[in-house]
Amino acid sequence: MSSPPTGRTDEPVELDAVVIGAGFAGLYQLFRLRDRLGLTVMALEAADGIGGTWFWNRYPGARCDSESHVYWYTFSLELMREWEWSERYPGQAEILRYLNFVADKLALKRDIRFRTRVTSAHYDEAANRWHVRTETGETFIAKYLVTAVGCLSTANVPAIPGLEMFKGDWYHTGQWPHEGVDIAGKRVGMIGTGSTGIQAAPVIAAQAKHLTVFQRTANYSVPARNVPLTADFKQYVKDNAGEIRATTHQTYNGMGFRVEERNAVDTPPEERERIYEAAWERGGLQFRASFEDMLISKQANDTAADFIKSKIRSIVKDPKTAAVLSDIDHPYAAKRPPIDTNYFETYNRPNVTLVDVKAAPIRQISETGIRTDEAEYPVDIIVFATGFDAMTGPLLRMDIRGRGGIALKDVWEAGPRNYLGLQVAGFPNLFTITGPGSPSVLCNMPVAIEQHVDWITDCIDHMRAKGRERIEARAEAVEKWVTEVNEAAARTLLPLAKHSWYLGANIPGKPRVFMPYAGGLVRYREICHDVVARDYEGFALS
Ligand SMILES: Cc1cc2nc3c(=O)[nH]c(=O)nc-3n(C[C@H](O)[C@H](O)[C@H](O)COP(=O)(O)OP(=O)(O)OC[C@H]3O[C@@H](n4cnc5c(N)ncnc54)[C@H](O)[C@@H]3O)c2cc1C
Repeated sequence: MSSPPTGRTDEPVELDAVVIGAGFAGLYQLFRLRDRLGLTVMALEAADGIGGTWFWNRYPGARCDSESHVYWYTFSLELMREWEWSERYPGQAEILRYLNFVADKLALKRDIRFRTRVTSAHYDEAANRWHVRTETGETFIAKYLVTAVGCLSTANVPAIPGLEMFKGDWYHTGQWPHEGVDIAGKRVGMIGTGSTGIQAAPVIAAQAKHLTVFQRTANYSVPARNVPLTADFKQYVKDNAGEIRATTHQTYNGMGFRVEERNAVDTPPEERERIYEAAWERGGLQFRASFEDMLISKQANDTAADFIKSKIRSIVKDPKTAAVLSDIDHPYAAKRPPIDTNYFETYNRPNVTLVDVKAAPIRQISETGIRTDEAEYPVDIIVFATGFDAMTGPLLRMDIRGRGGIALKDVWEAGPRNYLGLQVAGFPNLFTITGPGSPSVLCNMPVAIEQHVDWITDCIDHMRAKGRERIEARAEAVEKWVTEVNEAAARTLLPLAKHSWYLGANIPGKPRVFMPYAGGLVRYREICHDVVARDYEGFALS
């Protein structure tokens, strides 16, 4: 088929498929639909470059928590052997370079429309076409619509009264200026101690005159132990690319390590301590793989939680600060478990203050600082490390309407409802990559993304081979899947983290529903495979 027109035009652009987003997911989906199926496709991207998360998140210390040798595409062993990572955990700039390398190698950019934010997508039932409209007033018409809008791409700036009066500068970490922010000699107030705040605090503290961290929810963190990769390890990755790929496909959450087949509760305390100590020294997310029962049994989890809390108290010298940092109200890894480089050590610096906003909430931002119930803290810069309207946010920000004009926001009023995280009943030919109800954020995401993209591509290929025009999730399959997602979460300790963004709890008014599928990527992959083997069970093809 011919290539689609790429210049801006007032005329609607007709395509086979539109992909929204050009991060890991959008790039791979564009490649598969265009180069494997030969469709005319265009990816529409709000940013003026590719990369998604790694385009936007340029805050000090922005880095991946997945290890570099598993945080990439695995669909091509050639690409895996060609690219070389420099560190155990790649930083933002290196990941962005990697994605540009892939996009250039596969000649993807010519089919991406940048600075093009999609505002609406309406399904025309009679014509079986999606009409996709953009902020710039353009219209794209396509049979297939694939959202690759990311799970963490809608920045959440909390509505704190007075922000508009603030005379200094403020930034959200997920919309960090490309030219950087001059922090040197400034008093910085940072709100939020999730994964991002934990990465940013040590780097900001090293530059700022003073850093005041406002903590509402204390958090666990394990040392990352980042290091430059040795020549031997780089060679190991090249020699074992196939095996690395196979491992990520076989592990519960798409990581390169396996969960140890032993229970914390059955392990004698001294032995358990030795295991945790070794995991702490090795560093990284692998800490949570120390025992099989860690995310299932509260008793088991308490052993990990107690270990980390005692580490916090041993690192942080001021006992009051240590107490606030270790006053953690949720099981370990029930929220996204951060890893860090000198996070707790940062509180031993004379230029860092911790403010407990659980005890004395933030009331207002004044012209010159942040005011809590107890005091006012003067700052020149406010950094919102307050995360995202996760998973549903980027989808609901668009006006998506299916059959009969029904709006996605109405269908999801009480929380996301879909089948396999891939399709919503009433929205034919709309696919959501790593949508709520899929393992997504509980995984090493490139692996979850590849699985979704491959499934969607195979599905469209199948439809074309069979002469089918529409695919749509059946309402009863959605019912069953929503139950399955809830039950999978209930089998774990994950829902016990009451302030977790997995539950939507960070966004006022958002329904409290555990959004990702917690049954693991292996099981999920099997379910998706079985659905296809049973002739797309749960979907109506017509
Ligand atoms: C700070 C940070 C650290 C992370 N660390 C890890 C990690 O260690 N391991 C891991 O597995 N994952 C991590 N993640 C998750 C990360 O988002 C994924 O790994 C991956 O980058 C997601 O790719 P994506 O293409 O699905 O989404 P994104 O990278 O978010 O890309 C989505 C794109 O869609 C665009 N878009 C959204 N809405 C519209 C619209 N309406 N119109 C046009 N364009 C739109 C956005 O501009 C964006 O470019 C991290 C996320 C953050 C924020």
